[in-house]
Amino acid sequence: MKYYSTNHNSLDVSLAEAVVKGLAPDRGLYMPERIERLPREFFDNIDKMSFHEIACRVARAFFGEDIPGEDLDAIVCDTLSFPTLVVEVESGIYSLELFHGPTLAFKDVGARFMARLLQYFIKRGDDRRNVHVLVATSGDTGSAVANGFLGVDGINVHVLYPKGKVSPIQECQFTTLGRNITAIEVDGVFDDCQRLVKSAFLDGELNERLLLTSANSINVARFLPQAFYYFNAYAQLKKAGMADNLVVCVPSGNFGNITAGLIAHRMGLPIKRFIAANNANDVFFKYLQNGEYEPRPSIATIANAMDVGDPSNFARILDLYGNDHARITSLISGTTYSDGLIAKTMEECFKDTGYILDPHGAVGYRALKQSLRPGETGVFLETAHPAKFKDTVEAHIGCEVEIPSRLADFMKGEKQSVAMTSDFADFRSYLMTL
Ligand SMILES: *Cc1c(COP(=O)(O)O)cnc(C)c1O
Repeated sequence: MKYYSTNHNSLDVSLAEAVVKGLAPDRGLYMPERIERLPREFFDNIDKMSFHEIACRVARAFFGEDIPGEDLDAIVCDTLSFPTLVVEVESGIYSLELFHGPTLAFKDVGARFMARLLQYFIKRGDDRRNVHVLVATSGDTGSAVANGFLGVDGINVHVLYPKGKVSPIQECQFTTLGRNITAIEVDGVFDDCQRLVKSAFLDGELNERLLLTSANSINVARFLPQAFYYFNAYAQLKKAGMADNLVVCVPSGNFGNITAGLIAHRMGLPIKRFIAANNANDVFFKYLQNGEYEPRPSIATIANAMDVGDPSNFARILDLYGNDHARITSLISGTTYSDGLIAKTMEECFKDTGYILDPHGAVGYRALKQSLRPGETGVFLETAHPAKFKDTVEAHIGCEVEIPSRLADFMKGEKQSVAMTSDFADFRSYLMTL
């Protein structure tokens, strides 16, 4: 299978190249040249299949030409070492809990899959150099990527994070791992971290010497596997007799997660419509209203993993629907909520149902409550465990959020990091010693 750039100004590439490069040379995002429609029997029987069986079938539709079936199945099953559960919150509204992975957020799925795919390409000998993954993080991406790649042979991960600007819970998830993971504490802000990483990718000598790759969320190997859990959610709801007129609501920031859902829909998954739920960062919401896309600097909110002012995957959504605003609005609606409403939603949902939402899931739950019509069933993606946002959640529900043991274990570990200035010369000499 070939991958093309959404800007149509670069050559088509193989899967291996799309994964290692991340972004196309024309700055477009890679898309698979074909999206296979799965047969009717698959959907008829999906409720009798396991999560692994479902995911392996979906994976073969994309990666089956590039990776032998058994190897691909092993990558998929090793990625999905935890469940994605559908839980009823109230009549007709379900939570798709994507926080049962190692770092308690949905990004675990994509990060783990990408790590295993890269390892496969290295073992196959596509490039004999060790791979160095550089990732700048403001918190959550660093932990998902670091844990996804932990212990993967032949790959070293360098996580750059701004000193004093990530929460202690987030920090311990990438500074206590050791092995092939190095945390780099940059004396600066997130933008400095990102600039250091970008400068490294543009440095000719460094790139001759080291095989550098980015593992950010626009990578096809991180975004496509997210389709797996949409199929699995459908299977679980079908088993419960609740899969008709299904509305899927995705709390969105960079729009990678919802794009994977749209791809599942294109593969034939019977979803009636989607809701893209936003916090105060409402660029996509505005686009749905008036057809104009106007990126803006992001606004800080309590659902901070969705604070994105220019969502990268918008380009993929436009590409999927041929730039047709009417087609997009007939399938996707949007909402935007202030911090006040997000907080009120956590409070009310807990009071009415006993279910504890994290701030991101709260955006999704509220959007469903507001828009579900008679006869529809709604499922929202609960993208992170509430304990990751412990202080915020507790302040609004008025009681304690228990910290799961796998999160507590990170907090017991010893913090180790390399101190770095925000000067590229410093980061460069660090990389030259690798
Ligand atoms: C990354 C993230 C999001 C946003 O997902 P996108 O794919 O960028 O739209 C939502 N919630 C949480 C908790 C996240 O970490």
